[in-house]
Amino acid sequence: MKIYNSATHKKEEFVPADPQLVKMYTCGPTVYHFAHIGNLRSYIMEDVLEKYLRYLGYNVRRVMNITDVGHLSGDNDEGEDKMLKGAQREHKTVMEIAKQYTDAFFADCAALNIKKPDVVDPATNCIPDYVRVINRLVDTNYAYRAGGNVYFDTSKLKNYYVFNDFKEDDLAVGVREGVEKDENKRNKNDFALWFTKSKFDSQALKWDSPWGVGYPGWHIECSCIAMKHLGENVDIHCGGIDNAFPHHTNEIAQSEAYLGHKWCNYWMHVAHLNTADGKMSKSKGEFLILSLLRDKGYDPMEYRFFCLQSHYRKNLVFTWENLDNAKGAYNKLVAKIAALSPDGEVDDEAVKSVREKFIAQMDNDINTPNGVTVLYDILKLRASDATKLAAIDDIDRVLSLDLTKKAAEMRKKNASAPKTGEFSVICESGEPDESVEALLRERQSAKKAKDFARADAIRSEVAGMGYTITDIPGGVKYGR
Ligand code: AMP
Ligand code: ZN
Repeated sequence: MKIYNSATHKKEEFVPADPQLVKMYTCGPTVYHFAHIGNLRSYIMEDVLEKYLRYLGYNVRRVMNITDVGHLSGDNDEGEDKMLKGAQREHKTVMEIAKQYTDAFFADCAALNIKKPDVVDPATNCIPDYVRVINRLVDTNYAYRAGGNVYFDTSKLKNYYVFNDFKEDDLAVGVREGVEKDENKRNKNDFALWFTKSKFDSQALKWDSPWGVGYPGWHIECSCIAMKHLGENVDIHCGGIDNAFPHHTNEIAQSEAYLGHKWCNYWMHVAHLNTADGKMSKSKGEFLILSLLRDKGYDPMEYRFFCLQSHYRKNLVFTWENLDNAKGAYNKLVAKIAALSPDGEVDDEAVKSVREKFIAQMDNDINTPNGVTVLYDILKLRASDATKLAAIDDIDRVLSLDLTKKAAEMRKKNASAPKTGEFSVICESGEPDESVEALLRERQSAKKAKDFARADAIRSEVAGMGYTITDIPGGVKYGR
């Protein structure tokens, strides 16, 4: 499998350090509010990557943090504390907010068929790990104390900007309008490992440390949680593209300074989902969250399909029209699958060749739009319906679009609905009466033969049995 590695800026063959086990790390949500559908795009794509690795036969150990402390709105130690902001907004404690939105996040994930990672660890659960790592960074002069806080000294590294070839000035922090510069920092991109003194006197969660009572910076959590559960090496680390700098850049800086060797081999970054007028945000306009989509009548699978139709490294524009197109295409696909008959023999060779076709597409940097196209190719195969269904099920282990499940539901619904062209007799009371139904069919035949006298006589007879009848398009309803 080839994957685009943001650290080397090219597509590379993916080779895990241990051929038996892929160690995967994903930056988790900051649980101060609902995840917006942009965040969920990243988690859908990471889910596809994990499932594809498993599909190829790898064992995967996937770890995810939950950011419940330390993440400031500026990503670079500036701005407001996100958790505190959430707690104040809802008049709850930080831990109540964390629980509420962690639960909401995993409910969204479940609705979108995003598998829960093998390990999920909240940042507040790992304080001793941060203290241990920061201690060594201070001892080895990679970190320094200033103004009561502990900072990582980025000037100690030969190559700090791993992901981008930006000019340093473009990346300068603390120069944005309205953001106060942290005078404690020796270099503009130095970042806080531990805060004791900061503008957040009201910080709810604080822990004792060798540098005083305080709390960790945001970046240190991912390095430590990854090391805690995956050891000294990570094969593949994922996140949205906004995480590349400064978050992942800082993760690499501190992890490699601590370990003394290379830490993670492959970096996968998911491009953003944007609205037509720009960046998706939790405060701007309509808050685009999964429950809003559901309230408007969209099935989460339609949103997943919308995401998979585009490549993860391309920005994706969200408009209701685009989502409607995906909804239409998804439901048409399900209808085509519903028209297949589940009975019959499966041709295993044909399923295998579909599998090879799918792998050829997905091996090329997780090309989900081409992977989805394979579904349409299956429908055109000269093979039994059962074979087609088996092939769809096989690749849907990765795509997770519930295709054959939704098709079975549609088949069931169609079976109970009146067939076009057929005369249907519908019992409204829930207690069908065979003799009445026979009479109503006879009445229909009489009407067709223009024997209206007989048709009227039957209506009276049925009325005499205590039923009212109503003619409807394509049939008749009767009830008491
Ligand atoms: P957060 O909860 O802000 O820490 O973000 C959770 C994940 O969503 C991170 O991997 C982000 O990089 C990613 N993310 C943030 N905004 C977007 C977006 N508009 N589209 C796709 N992914 C995003
Ligand atoms: Zn992270």
